[in-house]
Amino acid sequence: MYLSLHTTVAIATSNYLPNLWLAFIVNFILHFVLDLIPHGDDEDSKKIIGDKTYNKTFITITLIDLLTSSAIIWYYAWTQNFNVSTITSWSILGGVLPDLVMGFAFFAKLHPWIYKLNHWWTDKYLDFHKKIHFIIKFQMSKITALFLQAATIVLIFWFI
Ligand SMILES: [Zn+2]
Repeated sequence: MYLSLHTTVAIATSNYLPNLWLAFIVNFILHFVLDLIPHGDDEDSKKIIGDKTYNKTFITITLIDLLTSSAIIWYYAWTQNFNVSTITSWSILGGVLPDLVMGFAFFAKLHPWIYKLNHWWTDKYLDFHKKIHFIIKFQMSKITALFLQAATIVLIFWFI
C-alpha cells in the first residue's frame, strides 16, 4: 500500500489520539491492518528481490510515493498554518515505519555484510509483512488500486 495513504490515515487518526505514544503505536498497528486490504501489489512483492528491471520500477514508484507523501504532509501543515502537533508527527512516523523497516530489510538483502548482521530479524520481518498481503486473496489491477488509493486520500482530506 502506498505510503501516501498510510501518511493520510496517520494524519486523520492523530486528531483522535490523546498522546504521542498512543499515536505512534496505534498507527504502527494500523499500518498492518491497512495492508490486509487488497491493494494491487500482491504479485509484485514476490518479484522485488532479484529482478533488476523490477527493482528500478520499484525504486521509481517508491520515490514518487515519498514525494507525494511529503506533499501531503506539507499540504496538511499548510492548512494548519504550519502548527503540526507532536501527536500528528508521531502518528505519521508510526504509520510509515513498517514500510521504512521493510525498505531497510530489502537494502540489507542486497548488501552481504549488512545482511549478515541483520538476517536473523529482516528475513522474518519480510516474511511477516508479505504474508499479511496474501491473507485476503483478491487481485486487482495496478490502475484500479492507484485510483482507489488516490480517491481514499482525497476523501479522507475532505473530512478532516
Ligand atoms: Zn506495508
